[in-house]
Amino acid sequence: MEKLYNFINGKFVAPNSNQYLEIFEPATGQTYAQVADSNSADIENAYESAQNAFGNWSSLSVKERADYLNKIAEGLESRLDEFAEYESRDTGKPISLAKSVDIPRAVSNFRFFADYGQEFNFESELNNDQSHNKIIRSALGVIGCISPWNLPLYLFSWKIAPALIAGNTVVAKPSEITPFTAFKLGEICQDAGLPPGVLNIIHGQGSIAGDALVNHSKIKAISFTGGTTTGKLIAKKTASSFKKLSLEMGGKNPSIIFSDCDFDKMMKTVVRSSFSNQGQICLCSSRILVEESIYEKFKTNFIQRVSDLRMGDPSEIETQFGALSSKGHFDNVIDYIEIAKQEGGKILVGGNAKKLNGRCGNGWFIEPTIIEGLNNSCRTNQEEIFGPLVTLQSFKSEKDAIQLANETEYGLSATIWTEDNEKANRVSALIDAGVIWVNCWLVRDLRTPFGGMKQSGLGWEGGDEALRFFTEPKNICTLA
Ligand code: NAD
Repeated sequence: MEKLYNFINGKFVAPNSNQYLEIFEPATGQTYAQVADSNSADIENAYESAQNAFGNWSSLSVKERADYLNKIAEGLESRLDEFAEYESRDTGKPISLAKSVDIPRAVSNFRFFADYGQEFNFESELNNDQSHNKIIRSALGVIGCISPWNLPLYLFSWKIAPALIAGNTVVAKPSEITPFTAFKLGEICQDAGLPPGVLNIIHGQGSIAGDALVNHSKIKAISFTGGTTTGKLIAKKTASSFKKLSLEMGGKNPSIIFSDCDFDKMMKTVVRSSFSNQGQICLCSSRILVEESIYEKFKTNFIQRVSDLRMGDPSEIETQFGALSSKGHFDNVIDYIEIAKQEGGKILVGGNAKKLNGRCGNGWFIEPTIIEGLNNSCRTNQEEIFGPLVTLQSFKSEKDAIQLANETEYGLSATIWTEDNEKANRVSALIDAGVIWVNCWLVRDLRTPFGGMKQSGLGWEGGDEALRFFTEPKNICTLA
């Protein structure tokens, strides 16, 4: 069985413990590889390699660093189909999604920051009658990047690319549940001639390898994407060291549908925003709020469209809906369906695990599920489920919709559907969420700030925000 090693100082190396974790294919429930179960000794080796590489890497020009990032993007692009197959096998997501979203976006992350880094003001001036101020933004040093399982390479590269272009070196830990494409990224870095130690990839459990990374006294910053509970733990553990933190966490995103929306366009997108990647995108809509006058029409159409989604083997190109990414998560979602029923929820569609024929007979599939009849304060509507389960609620007025949307501890994203621009502006201004899509979903300009409010995030990613996070300003003041 293939063993996934750590990537330290430009080489693939076995973990210090010589222990490995099983890697499963969610579509079959079978193990197909083993991944390094690393500990603090591996993190230490990776740190030293990153620290040794820092001097040379940070003194390259931005253009020279951009050339390396572009080579990584090219290498990845030339192996796009192969990487999409790895991602689909590792996560259970449809191959069409991995091919059209995950891997292309990972390519774009490297290419975007290669370009954007060259436009960013690493040096600027502010002068007045008394003083000249030169402001320099310098790399921090060695950065720790920690990413989740739902969009493995997409989110891994979203952190690594800006950290590297800003002149930092990196120790990165992908999720132990879906480590395959991060493992293969090591090969791409070797082929791109990335200097050894600039990017080190350490695999293993969050509570061991992740914890060692977070607690490392010389790592300057942690860029984390994952659950809010883990984010809180990281914030606690780093509080006394004042380590710089960027935490991108969970969501409970509302989709607010007004009666004056473009119904067909809305319906097509809301099916996608609810069930893409089996609802396992932090930006998926999980609470669908519909204006009372179109609630029944919405419900009938939505049930029909969702019932038509083609669930199947994720490796088949026509599959639209795949497996959940781990057995633990599968069990979790099944538990939430039971909770929803106990809370008085009525299942309109789905609500069951699904047994497929053939090679996917033991896979972790759950039907796309729509539930109505729950109030906003119940657990189903308050806790992040992060799976193929959405609830429907109706609202009477704009004010009601805003109140329902904001009545949660999360504030990651929201979608608003209306043809009335003034209404869209009014409602957008009052919704507590870091990303608001009006009449669209998941459209991203990588220059824009990305992050969450309330329990969904601390710090921002994307464009200038990412480059500010991965640098530290210094003001050099002289008399005018
Ligand atoms: P998780 O918090 O369990 O794990 C995320 C990463 O953190 C993994 O690499 C894990 O190994 C590591 N980790 C776990 N415990 C750790 C610890 N004690 N110290 C250091 N590292 C530790 O999250 P997950 O289940 O992998 O991902 C799902 C969550 O991620 C959902 O809540 C989802 O909303 C969130 N998410 C957020 C965004 C966003 O941009 N806001 C994007 C994707 C996913």
